Amino acid sequence: MAIATINPATGETLQTFLPLEDGEVAAKLELAQRTFEQYRQTSFQERSQWLQQTANILDKEKADFAKIMTLEMGKTYKSAIAEVEKCALVCRYYAENAPDFLADVTVKTDASHSFIKYQPLGIILAVMPWNFPFWQVFRFAAPALMAGNVGLLKHASNVPQCALAIEDIITRAGFPPGVFQTLLIGGSKVANLMADDRIKAATLTGSEPAGASLAAASGQHIKKTVLELGGSDPFIVLETAELELAVSTAVTARMINNGQSCIAAKRFIIAETIADKFEKMLLAKFQTLKVGDPFAEDTDIGPLATVDIFQELDQQVKIAVENGAKIIIGGSALKNQPGNFYQPTIIKDIPLNHPIAKEEFFGPVALLFRVANIDEAIKLANDIPFGLGASAWTNNEQEKTRLIAEIEAGAVFINSMVKSDPRLPFGGIKRSGYGRELSIQGIHEFVNIKTVWVS
Ligand code: NAP
Repeated sequence: MAIATINPATGETLQTFLPLEDGEVAAKLELAQRTFEQYRQTSFQERSQWLQQTANILDKEKADFAKIMTLEMGKTYKSAIAEVEKCALVCRYYAENAPDFLADVTVKTDASHSFIKYQPLGIILAVMPWNFPFWQVFRFAAPALMAGNVGLLKHASNVPQCALAIEDIITRAGFPPGVFQTLLIGGSKVANLMADDRIKAATLTGSEPAGASLAAASGQHIKKTVLELGGSDPFIVLETAELELAVSTAVTARMINNGQSCIAAKRFIIAETIADKFEKMLLAKFQTLKVGDPFAEDTDIGPLATVDIFQELDQQVKIAVENGAKIIIGGSALKNQPGNFYQPTIIKDIPLNHPIAKEEFFGPVALLFRVANIDEAIKLANDIPFGLGASAWTNNEQEKTRLIAEIEAGAVFINSMVKSDPRLPFGGIKRSGYGRELSIQGIHEFVNIKTVWVS
C-alpha cells in the first residue's frame, strides 16, 4: 500500500510520502539504541515531566491534530477532538502512576532480602492501525516510555501525517531525540525488522493476518509480542433490560468511529420476548443518523477509511443477503456521493451456519440475532473465533453473574457499552489476540520482571 494521505470523504490524494530506504531505517535503529543506553538512566521524575508536557501539547493543539485525523481517515472531527483529549488523559495517568507500578516489590522469603525489580527492555516496535490513529499510539507510548523503553512506530500507511505529528509532539515535549521515532515503511518490511537484535519486543494492533505475520517473525527470533486484533463483539439484551437505554447505547456502540472499532458492538443478540420492540426502536434510531462530511458538527457517520475497507464491507453484506439474510435498512453505499460513504445498515436472519455470521463487519452494519433464553444468548455470544469485549444488558442479578462468568472475552460490560479506560486492562482472548494494554498490566508487558535474591 502506498504511504499517502487520501481524503476518504472525496477520494482525493492529498500528499504522498516516500517510504524510508533501508539505510534510513538502519540510522533510526542506531539512534534508538544509542538513545536507550542514556534514556534508561533517566529518573521517573524526568520522564513524568516530559509526559505531562506531552499531554499539555495534546490539549493545546488538539484542533490541529483532530483535523489531520479526520482528513486522513474520516472519523468525525468531534470524535477526533475527543480522541486527542483521551491521549492527554493516558499520558497524565502514566506520568502519575508509573512510578508506583514500577516500584520494587519486596517479597518475603527465606532470603535476607528478596524483591521484584522492573527494568526496561530496550527498543519496542509498535505496529499500529489507522482507526484510532492517535489513541492506539499513545496508549502504547505512555507506559513504554515511562518504563524506560524507547519506541519505533510503524503506523498504518494511510495515516502518515498522524505518525509524523506524534513523533514531533513527543520530541517537542522534551523527551531526548530518538526516544520515539516514526518509520515510514510498508507492512512487508516488519518481519525483517524483528530479526534485528536491538529490537526486543513488538506490539501490533490490527488484523489477524498482520498479527499472525508479526507473531511468526517474533517467534522465530524469540521475542515477546502483544497482539490486539479484531473482534465481533456481542451486545446481548435480555428481557429485564432497560430497553430505551439499551437501544440508544446500541447505536452508539455500533456506530463509534464510523463503525470501525475493534470493540464496537457488532452482533446484537436479543431475547425473543423483546426482539420485535428492540428491532423497531433500533430502526427508528438508525433512520435519524446523518451520514456525510466528517467535519460537519451534525454528522454522525463519516466515510470509511479506505476503499478496501469499504469494498470488503459491501461484499460481506452482499454475501449475507445471498445466503438468506434480510436487510432492514441500508445495505449499500450512499448514492450519488464520492468518497467511501456507507449507509447505516441493519441485517437480520443471518444463517448461523454460514461463515459470514462469524466474521467481523468493520463499518456501520449491525447484525441482529434472536435467542430464546440466556443459555442460547451465551452460546451464540461465544460461538465465534474472537473474544474481545462483550456488552450485556439485564437487571436480573443471577443473569449478570452468569454473563460475567461464562462469556469468553477479555472484558464484559454489564448495562454499558464496552470502552477502554486507562485504569483498566484492555485486550482479548482467542483470535482477538493476547497480552494487555493500559492499567498496571499494560506497563508490565514490556519490562524485565527481575527477581532479586540477597542471601
Ligand atoms: P491491518 O491491515 O492489519 O493494519 C494494521 C497495521 O499492521 C498497519 O500498520 C499495517 O501496515 C500493518 N501490517 C499489515 N500487514 C502487515 C504484515 N504482514 N506484517 C506486519 N505489519 C502489517 O489492519 P486494518 O485492516 O487496517 O485494521 C483493522 C483491524 O484492526 C480490524 O480487524 C480491527 O478489529 C483491528 N483493531 C483491533 C484493535 C484492538 O485493540 N484489538 C484496535 C483497532 C483495530 P500497512 O498500513 O502499511 O499495511
